[in-house]
Amino acid sequence: MSDVYRKCPECGIMNLNRDYCEQCGVLVNTNMRRQKERQQRIKKKKAVAAAKKPNRITLFFEKAKTHPNPIIRFVVLFFYSIWIVVLAIGSFLALIIGYITA
Ligand SMILES: [Zn+2]
Repeated sequence: MSDVYRKCPECGIMNLNRDYCEQCGVLVNTNMRRQKERQQRIKKKKAVAAAKKPNRITLFFEKAKTHPNPIIRFVVLFFYSIWIVVLAIGSFLALIIGYITA
């Protein structure tokens, strides 16, 4: 294996066969750094997707389900089950349409 010198972007010293800077500990291996950045990007994307996922109507029902008034809770639960059915039918129709056009 040949020796690899890597210049630290922070303090500028040369590091021989090291992934991290000898002096300040910064990651000097560019391949590893790129990989790390990519992983962070994917993580960020996933976090954004997770935050976006529940739509506003579902979120409203989720909140109302814990309402202190039991009558309102019952009404909300009733409409919530309708909403779930609507969602199910919607995805079922989308599946059929996708099947027909495919
Ligand atoms: Zn350094």
